[in-house]
Amino acid sequence: MNQKVTFSQQIPTSVYIHIPFCRRRCFYCDFPIFVIGDKLRGEESGTISQYIEILCQEIAATQSFELPLKTIFFGGGTPSLLSTKQLQKILNILQEQFGIAVNAEISMEIDPGTFDLLHLQGYRHVGINRVSLGVQAFAENLLQACGRSHSVADIFTAIDLIHRVGIPEFSMDLISGLPHQTLDIWRESLEKIIAIAPTHVSIYDLTIEPQTAFGRYYKPGNKPLPEDETTAAMYRMAQKILTGGGYKHYEISNYAKPGHQCQHNRVYWENHPYYGFGMGAASYLRGKRFTRPRKTKEYYAWVENGCVIDCPETPVEEVLLETLMLGLRLAEGISLETLTQKFGQNQVDKINEILQPYIEKHWVEVVKGRLQLTDPEGFLFSNVILAKLFEKLI
Ligand code: SF4
Repeated sequence: MNQKVTFSQQIPTSVYIHIPFCRRRCFYCDFPIFVIGDKLRGEESGTISQYIEILCQEIAATQSFELPLKTIFFGGGTPSLLSTKQLQKILNILQEQFGIAVNAEISMEIDPGTFDLLHLQGYRHVGINRVSLGVQAFAENLLQACGRSHSVADIFTAIDLIHRVGIPEFSMDLISGLPHQTLDIWRESLEKIIAIAPTHVSIYDLTIEPQTAFGRYYKPGNKPLPEDETTAAMYRMAQKILTGGGYKHYEISNYAKPGHQCQHNRVYWENHPYYGFGMGAASYLRGKRFTRPRKTKEYYAWVENGCVIDCPETPVEEVLLETLMLGLRLAEGISLETLTQKFGQNQVDKINEILQPYIEKHWVEVVKGRLQLTDPEGFLFSNVILAKLFEKLI
């Protein structure tokens, strides 16, 4: 591809902050985290305090572009292991360095059993207006089979606290395809979600990563993991029950009540620039994607040495694939006109040709000039469609 892409000169107004601490490591998790055990949190843990210092040092060393932040996302790990004071410290430095818009969406991932009423009130007080509760399952045996550090009772306590504090945006995560999970168990979880009525729901299909405990225990498709047809049926069931319950399926894995989509995650899917801070976090700035070291020692050394970002501009083929891979996750898909302006008519013709068999299967469609995956079938087979695009476009 000879065409030169002009990268968006858009100024980043979103920040992701990685908080890499968890009580234990879930059996399916391969994120860069520290396991700190069940006892310590906040300032009680020297490990957390040291990390916050380094993280703030990194933020302070980053060039700002004089536009206030519109979205901030504390992810992990388990950000609800931070004290209010630690959270405030990070927000203060973001305010000093970039400014935070008055109506900014400030999200935090929280895990049942890691916070009480005072913690949550504190988080709300310093500016958190969206929480994402890592539920994963409503059955005790499934939580244990995944190595989660909380019980079903902890989930309901957490929900009660969120309602008492009145956090306006409330998301819940579930995982399908877990060992021993059946369609009936899955239906019950979805019905519980409908009854609880959070503003947003994320549904992830279990991926078995080789480096995890699950990677050692199980082979995809083998018992006690559900078969592929069962996980596909789970995906279709979630789509039916949640859309029937008033949620819009706006992204492959995400559902929201009207007006409650996650603004921060939309920045990723629309391939807009953003800052990432913390161990293993990625930034996407001026066409360059940079991932920080995933190991503590290396991350600390990188910050001590001045946070030097030295990476090449993303090649245009990769930008095209990223645009397709991310944009097709959204229900509204990608504008063909924008694709043509950015990558040229030849590329768009080629994409249309590659996708023709999937258009015939009704997995892909063009609606009002936008290329979209159909829901649920196109979303369900997105991996097949994207693999074909990768194979033919590279
Ligand atoms: S809580 Fe999340 S980040 Fe922590 S170990 Fe479990 S899956 Fe990984």
